[in-house]
Amino acid sequence: GEGRVATTIRDYIRTIPDFPHEGIMFRDVTTLMGDARGFRMAVDMLVHPYAGRRIDHVAGLEARGFILGGAVAHQLSTGFTPIRKKGKLPARAIAEEYTLEYATAVVEMHDDAIQPGEGVLLVDDLLATGGTAAAGVRLIERLGGVVIGCAFVIDLPDLGGRKRLEGMGLDVHALCE
Ligand code: AMP
Repeated sequence: GEGRVATTIRDYIRTIPDFPHEGIMFRDVTTLMGDARGFRMAVDMLVHPYAGRRIDHVAGLEARGFILGGAVAHQLSTGFTPIRKKGKLPARAIAEEYTLEYATAVVEMHDDAIQPGEGVLLVDDLLATGGTAAAGVRLIERLGGVVIGCAFVIDLPDLGGRKRLEGMGLDVHALCE
């Protein structure tokens, strides 16, 4: 038959087995972001459902969400605000804890980053259990922001993140599974 020549988002993503520990298949988007066409395709596809929606800020989750979210914010002509691991933000911040497999982690956002009523698009590279994104949503909502959507390059559907976020009434957009 005819060979498939079209290049998709998946073709740009590299998988590293057993990183950062055994049993984890790490989905590495540095190869996607490192390619001019791949990066452009990813940013265009992340933005597409939200063009024309009222978005005031893009919030990016540390660290790969900063790179993707910054480009998305630029394309939507919005501001960008970082959601960082505990202790990294210089000004007054609010914090939310979330659970990892064997531990807990904390993410923070500056308490003046979002004004009440603003529309916010949350961006990260990958949705797994949804714990990180849900903590980000709680931060945004505590500041009075309205989460218009949660956009990811990759969704790992077996880990339940999409169901969890949709169960919170959120719009979830992912470019591939
Ligand atoms: P979760 O909170 O379980 O949805 O995990 C999502 C966060 O962990 C994102 O910030 C991802 O960058 C990272 N992450 C989780 N699993 C993977 C994976 N298999 N490959 C790459 N990043 C991952």
